[in-house]
Amino acid sequence: MSETKGNPGMRVVELLSAWKSILGGSTPMMSIEITRECPLTCPGCYAYGKEHLGGAVTLRSLSDYRGDALVDGILALVRQHRPLHVSLVGGEPLVRHRELSRVLPILSEMGVHAMVVTSAVIPVPAAWTKIRRATVAVSVDGLPEHHDVRRKPATYERILKNIAECRVNIHGTITRPMLERPGYIEEYIAFWSAREEVARIWVSLYTPQKGETSAEMLSDRDREVVAEELLKARARHPKLLMNPGIAEAIRRPPRDPGDCMFARMSTNFSADLKTRVEPCIFGGNPDCSHCGCAVSSGLHWVKTMQLGFVKIEHLARGSVAIGSVVGKLRRGYREHPRWTRPLPIGESTATGQKTA
Ligand code: SF4
Ligand code: SF4
Repeated sequence: MSETKGNPGMRVVELLSAWKSILGGSTPMMSIEITRECPLTCPGCYAYGKEHLGGAVTLRSLSDYRGDALVDGILALVRQHRPLHVSLVGGEPLVRHRELSRVLPILSEMGVHAMVVTSAVIPVPAAWTKIRRATVAVSVDGLPEHHDVRRKPATYERILKNIAECRVNIHGTITRPMLERPGYIEEYIAFWSAREEVARIWVSLYTPQKGETSAEMLSDRDREVVAEELLKARARHPKLLMNPGIAEAIRRPPRDPGDCMFARMSTNFSADLKTRVEPCIFGGNPDCSHCGCAVSSGLHWVKTMQLGFVKIEHLARGSVAIGSVVGKLRRGYREHPRWTRPLPIGESTATGQKTA
């Protein structure tokens, strides 16, 4: 699943833990594309784009893992990078559900929050609901009139069957065609809000690559409309993660990856467990000025908040400076590309990784 990945619902206590993590030289968030396989062929899928991994390699061309090698590989990455939150994505991560059923309880025991981001084209194991620090986010892109076309065979009918007996979050990506019918967003949120299986709902806006001109893209005016509608929907549906600060971040996204708290605080790996996805989970050359990523919006808002007399943005900048020094004391430490200076977009190494 390649839609926006991560958990936009961070609380203050988690922020403090994140701060501790940064001071130790680690990014608090990590995402891992645990497989290159996916039975869906969604339009606008960035994971399978030619530039997703910088142009030298693609997700489909990478070797990936299964069985013990995948379980051990994921745990080794987590032990090395010490994140507080790991998003397990793909491709479709549920094609490796057996491995995930082994990994999730171990991560939870380690105190690491894990989120599996899936299309739910494969049944979600009900046992995962009982794992303390594991959550499942199901991507549902609009109402059936759009979703079932874009994301077949992961149709509404199939998702509802595959999440029965589970507790999941719903994540939607809004595209331009969904704004043509008034009331669409409210209808979408009301549908999922009424489902017992659903704990939280969050929404991203379609994020294009630079230079893209697709039918999915939203204009600045569309972003205003979506921000307003989400705020109104939040008043009726408490399961929706939204507030005026996030709405403002939707209207005014980060200027570039160096300005993006999410890109600065997350380390992202692809299916060979080595290649980095840069500058953020979208890979390639994302158009930050049209970013609608829910996590990025949430953290862009968070960085404007005050912690005592200090703005979180300033605290984070000071902390990464300390973390860069502390991290160098660790064996095999590799400094995060955006901890020293903003990443120059478009440069990539022969291994498909962006240069710092
Ligand atoms: S479900 Fe598969 S095809 Fe669809 S966006 Fe995610 S990775 Fe791409
Ligand atoms: S603002 Fe830019 S770097 Fe940050 S998540 Fe959005 S596209 Fe990626």
